[in-house]
Amino acid sequence: MERCLYIVPTPIGNLTDITLRACEVLASVDVIAAEDTRHSRKLLNHLNIDTPMWAYHEHVDDGVTERLVAQLVGGKAIALISDAGTPLVSDPGFRLVRAAQDAQCPVVPLPGPCAAITALSASGLPTDRFAFEGFLPAKAGPRAARLQALSQRDHTVVFYEAPHRILATLEAMLLEFGAEREVVLARELTKSFETIRRAPLAVLLDWVRADSNQQRGEQVLLVGPASKSTVAVDPAADSLLMRLALELPPRKAAAIVAEVYGLKARQVYERLLALKV
Ligand code: SAM
Repeated sequence: MERCLYIVPTPIGNLTDITLRACEVLASVDVIAAEDTRHSRKLLNHLNIDTPMWAYHEHVDDGVTERLVAQLVGGKAIALISDAGTPLVSDPGFRLVRAAQDAQCPVVPLPGPCAAITALSASGLPTDRFAFEGFLPAKAGPRAARLQALSQRDHTVVFYEAPHRILATLEAMLLEFGAEREVVLARELTKSFETIRRAPLAVLLDWVRADSNQQRGEQVLLVGPASKSTVAVDPAADSLLMRLALELPPRKAAAIVAEVYGLKARQVYERLLALKV
């Protein structure tokens, strides 16, 4: 279609995950705007598609967004792809979509691969409500602050993570979410070494620590909802817990508060970890 910007998802590993419609669109548009043309050339060669490609680096203000929109306005059709998965999901495209809409050019999204949704669907965590958080901040302080802000969420939270940060992120999550919180590591989805494991945070961390293979490849981390006991908190119980934790070992402090308030010691202990005393 003339003047149309197509948003085209591409495989996240297994090349046969490209849709028939994606192939048709990529073959028929005038230009493919690609995050990394060398990377995408391999996919296009595999599909026998020789549509011209433009490099699209959203964060470099080199006027490419404007030039692409000028092409659209001039009657051309453009497909936007990223290195893998759905464009705009932790990938470039936001500025281009808005600019195309502002220029009254139709934006047509194609459904297709996305690591977050692929991981979620097989995670075994609740899927009726979930939040996508993308990448956490790389620095320890801002990362801990973000995790703390998310620690009481009562729905599944999905993160992308780089392999060299997976251990540090799991350790930071342990401090903010507690040892018992259920998490899922989904690695190398759709590829030969695809691994999906659901376990309490402390167990998963030990497993990843002990097996360096689990620290490799592309990874999605999913965190299950905070349990009701950690969401509904009695401020007086919190206050006693925090005061006792200053004087006593954490498990002892949790046991006393559990007895006083008729709670389960394990849940109070988790609460203590969440409070980061
Ligand atoms: N737009 C992509 C999508 O729709 O999933 C995401 C791009 S983002 C720059 C790349 C991140 O996605 C990786 O660091 C990893 O967290 C996740 N990812 C991509 N492919 C994956 C795969 N095959 N298995 C697990 N995670 C993957």
